[in-house]
Formats: sequence, structure tokens, C-alpha cells
Amino acid sequence: MSSKRLETVKLTANFKLDRYIPLPFELYRGIINELLEYAHSRRITSFKRLKSEKYHELRARYPKLPSHYIYTACQMACSIYKSFRKLKRRGRVKKDKPVFRKDVIMLDDHLFSIDLENWRVSIATPNGRAEVGLLHGTYHEKFREMRVGQAWIVKDGKELYLKVVFSKEVEILEPNERAIAVDINENNVTFGTIDEVKKVETKERAIRTVYFLKRRRLQSKPRLNEKTILAKYRGREWRRIKEIYHKLANEIIKMAREERVSTIILENLKNIRRRIKRTKELNGRLHRWSFRKLQFIIEYKAKLNGINVIYVNPKNSSSYCPICGGRLSPNGQYRVLRCKRCGFEEDRDVIAVLNLLRKYQMNVGTSSVHPESPSMKRGGKAIRYKRNKYYKSSG
Ligand SMILES: [Zn+2]
Repeated sequence: MSSKRLETVKLTANFKLDRYIPLPFELYRGIINELLEYAHSRRITSFKRLKSEKYHELRARYPKLPSHYIYTACQMACSIYKSFRKLKRRGRVKKDKPVFRKDVIMLDDHLFSIDLENWRVSIATPNGRAEVGLLHGTYHEKFREMRVGQAWIVKDGKELYLKVVFSKEVEILEPNERAIAVDINENNVTFGTIDEVKKVETKERAIRTVYFLKRRRLQSKPRLNEKTILAKYRGREWRRIKEIYHKLANEIIKMAREERVSTIILENLKNIRRRIKRTKELNGRLHRWSFRKLQFIIEYKAKLNGINVIYVNPKNSSSYCPICGGRLSPNGQYRVLRCKRCGFEEDRDVIAVLNLLRKYQMNVGTSSVHPESPSMKRGGKAIRYKRNKYYKSSG
């Protein structure tokens, strides 16, 4: 029964280069815009065709430029034009033709090589190869054992950044009945198996409030460098939250490994949105984005450990009793719910986790796991539940 399947985990790493090197951003942008113009006027969406019609002409015109700059410019122009057409069809762009304005150069394996043992990168430039050091972040170690794919060099003011796509083939276990469900809230994350549920306070709201107030104070009196300071605050805020997310995800994976679970159950994001509306004063958009970010971190860490990840619709996950399927109602205490039929009483986040597990379990055993599980009301087999095993922790 324990068949495995292969999956490719792809992650993008962002490195800051430790010094500035002159790169032909303007020239590259010009080439892309010329290619876009050409592709647009002839409705070319095929990379092969664009390359065969324009590559040699551009090669002859810019003999000093390493040839793969033209190759990747064709790739970029093609994908920009394709997404422009898609947006145009949906009426999402007003412009008549696509224009590329960014300081970005796409690099393929001929144009760069990366050495993560020494945190260095070598980049082909019109003046020969340049060797530059990489400033790496706290979570960059994992990329060492992954395969290097495409990269982009991005100019931001006087800084250069290298974005690299890494990939790894992993063997994912076929889902069985052992699972962990994760319920994400604004200020806590609750996760566990049917035997043990853990609630971790993230204090994310406190961090967001601090930075929200800082930003508002700053915006109340106009300053010259307001934008830079705002960006700095955003960076700091995101780094603090990312730190929390990584620790949390590691804790979930640790539990998953110890309990030998095959699957981690996450909530389908569509339904998380509704929960965020209450906090519009703290920018609901940011929250939605950060829920997804945490899920994304849990997902790739799970996959790197061979653990399956599925998304389940959390609809009604705190409306019905996970033991008997009866209606739940507030029992008067903060966030505690009680079943009218069997008397079961528990924290609503713990109940959400139990119900996610139950929805999942009702679908295991069939050939595939459907995110839309049958309604909870109709029962199914009751899950085992050891109440005294639940515990809570903070931090
Ligand atoms: Zn009940």
C-alpha cells in the first residue's frame, strides 16, 4: 500500500549581491522591447519562431554581448507577450501593446553559475565574467542540496539581487489515515493529529499593530525619505513574521515525522478570506497574503520530507461536533464550543483541527482524496479522541 510518487519541489531564493557590477540593463530592456514589438506586430507566441526570426540579426548587431543574453531576451519577450495577450483578452490591460520597463536580466546556465559552498556567483557580462559574493539569509542553507534552474538579476537602486529557481525531486508518500491538520488564525496556529492537538500563539497581530502604528506615525508628517523608511519597516516586519512562520512550520514537520503521518491537511484559502474581514483596519490584503505564505512554507517543508499536502474546504469546521456530528453552540466561555447532543466541549480552534481531520479521514481509502468532502452532518465513522492528551503551548 505504501507506494510512492515523485514530485518536483520548486523554490525561488533571493540573494543580495555583495557589490555592484555593471550590467547592460538598458540594452537588454531595449532588446526585449524590440522583440515585443516584433512579436506583437506578427502575433508570435512561439519562442522557437521568435528566436529563429530575430536571434541572428540581434547577434550581428550586438557582437560583444554574450549570445545567451539574446537567447534569454527571446524567452522573456515571449512570456511577457503571452501574458499580455491573456490579460488583454480578459480586459485587464488598457495598453495596446506590451512594454517592458524593468531593470531585470534573465540568466540561463550559460550566463551564470552559483557556488553555495562559498556563497559566490559568476556572471557573464559584455566585459568577461564577473565573480561576486552572495549575502545569504537565515533560510538559504536548504538550497545547497537542490538543483539550480533559471535566474534573474534585478536592479533596485544601487543594489543588485539574484533570484534563482531551485528544484528537487522528492518521493511523496501515498496518503494514508495518519494525518496532521493545521488551522491558521490571525493570532494562533492550531495543529495536530487525532491524538494530540497543539495550539501555538503567534503574536502576529501584536507585531503587525506595532508596525502599522509606526507607519501611520511616519505618514502623518511628510518627509523626503518616507518611501525608504516605509520599505525598511515593511522589510523588518516581514522578517520577524517569517522567522515565526519558519519555526512554526518546523514544529509541525517535527510532529509529522514523530507521528509518522503521511499527510498534512491545510485549509483551502478561499474560505480563510471570510475570517479576515473583521480586521480590515490592519490591511486585510496583507493578512490573506501572509496566511498563504505560511501555508506555502509548511507545504514545501512537508514535501522536502516526503509528506503529502492536501487542501480541504474548512466550511463548517466549527459548526458541527467532531465526535457525533451534532450542532455546536457557544458555551459562554471565550472561543469554547459545546455540543448539544453529546455534551462534547472544546476550544473552537481545536474543534476546527478535529473536523479537518475527520473530513480527510472520510475520504481516505478511496483512490483519491477530494478536497470537497461530504457534509459533516451525515456522520461517518467517529474519530478517536483522547482529550487529556491535548496540550497548549505559547511561543
Ligand atoms: Zn457531539
